[in-house]
Amino acid sequence: MREALLYEKLPHSRVQCHTCQWRCKIGPGKYGVCGMYQNQDATLFNLNYSLVSSVAADPIEKKPLFHFFPGTLAFSLGTLGCNFHCQHCQNWEISMADGQTLTRSCREMTPEAQIELARQYDCQGVAWTYNEPAIWLEYTLDSAKLAKKSHLYTVYVTNGYSTPEALDAIGPYLDAWRVDIKGFSDHFYRDLAKVPHWRQILATAKRAKEKWNMHVEVVTNIIPTMNDDEQLTGIARWIHDELGELTPWHVTRFYPHHQLMHLSPTPVATLERACDIGRQAGLKFVYTGNVPGHSHENTVCYNCGHLIVERFGYQTTILGLVGSRCKFCGAELNFRT
Ligand SMILES: [Zn+2]
Repeated sequence: MREALLYEKLPHSRVQCHTCQWRCKIGPGKYGVCGMYQNQDATLFNLNYSLVSSVAADPIEKKPLFHFFPGTLAFSLGTLGCNFHCQHCQNWEISMADGQTLTRSCREMTPEAQIELARQYDCQGVAWTYNEPAIWLEYTLDSAKLAKKSHLYTVYVTNGYSTPEALDAIGPYLDAWRVDIKGFSDHFYRDLAKVPHWRQILATAKRAKEKWNMHVEVVTNIIPTMNDDEQLTGIARWIHDELGELTPWHVTRFYPHHQLMHLSPTPVATLERACDIGRQAGLKFVYTGNVPGHSHENTVCYNCGHLIVERFGYQTTILGLVGSRCKFCGAELNFRT
């Protein structure tokens, strides 16, 4: 347990958390929406510091990040809790947990131990993933500082709901912002994830790229009957206009989870149509996800048409990359290596 980094004290022993965009006002003894910040005697405490629920040495492609140190392993870890409550959450056993589950189902891993393990497992970086890293700010910040000292890359796999203050705290130590943009309207975010003010997610992603020079990739899970062509067009155009045409966009296949067990997996034809929507909006790199072996997993140079990176599931073969550019024609392909 650590005192929270970003909060203010209010009258009557209340506090306001500024870690994520809920900006919860929390009464004495109560928790924020995420369940991981608690007001104890007018001091806000983060409850999950150093408490890890899941850990693995994952291919970076699994995050998914396709243009960021391709073919490397990322030491991946998550804790419990989430500030969203998505109907289709794949990890709901860990995301819906509360503070009381923490000690029962987590083990302690200090930032120092985490970096040591990343090295032992031959990882080139660390990714905070599986649940929302924004509600683990204090721990990920301490860990990211150590990771940078050890020349490891650092990744947030996030729903993007951090406040600008939280982003700016970790910005100097974070290399990649892998953000979900789940839909493109108020009603979509309200229905699916029960969050207001979703547009701040867009502003924060742009800030990550422009202010902190992070590598940004966007994921949209295509849920049958929910995010229609209009939503997808909105997302694709926004990425193109605000993050740039070279930003990778992953359109991933939905599988029934949690409260959406009644829906079918996304038809592959629907994913292909989503790819077309992305390309029509001018995006140069649109990838399908959760469909192993699909040709839309590969990176092809938009300028000369050569195959640059071949992927099959999590197997990655680099064929035509020199730094961030195409080996064959020199076109800039927005890779970090
Ligand atoms: Zn080329």
